Amino acid sequence: MTDTVAVDSPPLDHRLQGVYDTLQRRNPGEKEFHQAVHEVLEILVPVVARRPEYIDAKLLERICEPERQIIFRVPWSDDSGEVHVNRGYRVEFNSALGPYKGGLRFHPNVSASIVKFLGFEQIFKNALTGMPIGGGKGGADFDPKGRSDAEIMRFCQSFMTELQRHIGEYTDVPAGDIGVGERELGYLFGQYKRINNRYESGVLTGKGIGWGGARVRKEATGYGTAYFVGEMLAATGSSLDGRDVVVSGSGNVAIYAAEKVQQLGGRVVACSDSTGVVHDPDGIDVALLKQVKEVERARLTVYAERRGGRARHEDGASVWHVPCTVALPCATQNELDGDAAKALIDNGVVAVAEGANMPCTPDAVRAFRAAGIAFGPGKAANAGGVATSALEMQQNASRDRWSFEHTEERLVQIMRDIHADCYATADEYGMPGDYVAGANIAGFVRVADAMLALGLV
Ligand code: GLU
Repeated sequence: MTDTVAVDSPPLDHRLQGVYDTLQRRNPGEKEFHQAVHEVLEILVPVVARRPEYIDAKLLERICEPERQIIFRVPWSDDSGEVHVNRGYRVEFNSALGPYKGGLRFHPNVSASIVKFLGFEQIFKNALTGMPIGGGKGGADFDPKGRSDAEIMRFCQSFMTELQRHIGEYTDVPAGDIGVGERELGYLFGQYKRINNRYESGVLTGKGIGWGGARVRKEATGYGTAYFVGEMLAATGSSLDGRDVVVSGSGNVAIYAAEKVQQLGGRVVACSDSTGVVHDPDGIDVALLKQVKEVERARLTVYAERRGGRARHEDGASVWHVPCTVALPCATQNELDGDAAKALIDNGVVAVAEGANMPCTPDAVRAFRAAGIAFGPGKAANAGGVATSALEMQQNASRDRWSFEHTEERLVQIMRDIHADCYATADEYGMPGDYVAGANIAGFVRVADAMLALGLV
């Protein structure tokens, strides 16, 4: 896995190149942020040719500059009384379509670059959902691994003690991401409520069902990715039925992508974590995976031991060498590089959809597109999570509670609409079947037009 990737992509049109050069100069060393911006700019050449007013209004420069960036100290003490200091972030990137919306990530590699790349992608992803949500992202360079429940609580309380003054149901609505799930959101919400003396349910999403959360939110990112790849296959006259699927990761996105793929008739033959890969040719036992990963927070070695049969754990192996026809990278950024893409293509992959944010390097994306493989970028393929967050906000605002079935129906329809929007936009711009073009153009135009309408904001 490559941690950072130098951008070595096709040349941009000179106006777009100017925007990119300025961005690199003003945000030195922020490789992931540069990469995410370049991916969008690359696609916009035909858009600015049709819509010169975007250039005149400096729309690209404005969209690449966050509206507000907050960096703060997070002091906390561990169980032995030792004091630690972490760095917290919230990047409020764009509020043209609604309150800033996006998750919080707790991971040791969180930096300004990581938060800005995620916040930038979130703007267009959120626009694609068709829901009234802007884009933002946050987190901390805190490593939750091996920390006790009490330590997690103290960290979350310290983090929210500062964050609370910047967020609100009409301002900025955080949720979870890597390292932040229902447990962390509980401690964060508790601290927000205590400081503000308000039961403001709509200030956070991904909450537990018993305290203002929405059904299907936990499953939504993974389910949405499975539905999206199902739509991609349907567009070529095929389906997930009988397909061998490889999912990377074994966290929230991977678990529920695997569950829905299998409900839709596919067989998930491998998944992974930091210890290596589980190859399970009879199909992953999702109930066992949930027990090991969600309940026990244990490693995949434990899954393989308990599963028995033909399941094998391979230390440090690459999941992308397991033969499959559908691949769903669901772990983290830049986890699938050019060599991994080549291995997948040689093994006959027909569709790849990103459950994680920017898991494929630019080389990998180029390889898939050049080989004519259906490729669903994260902005579209993993938008089901944040779309269901918007449904949670809707339920909180109306003090309502929807059933699982009703909420899932809404999610399915949203994923179908996103797919149709990307497909039609790619066609309109003369790039049929190119979901990277379709997703970036459709998302960008929606945000850019709202910004034009709102004046010089
Ligand atoms: N972290 C998720 C994402 O990358 C969800 C964000 C949200 O629900 O606000 O889209």
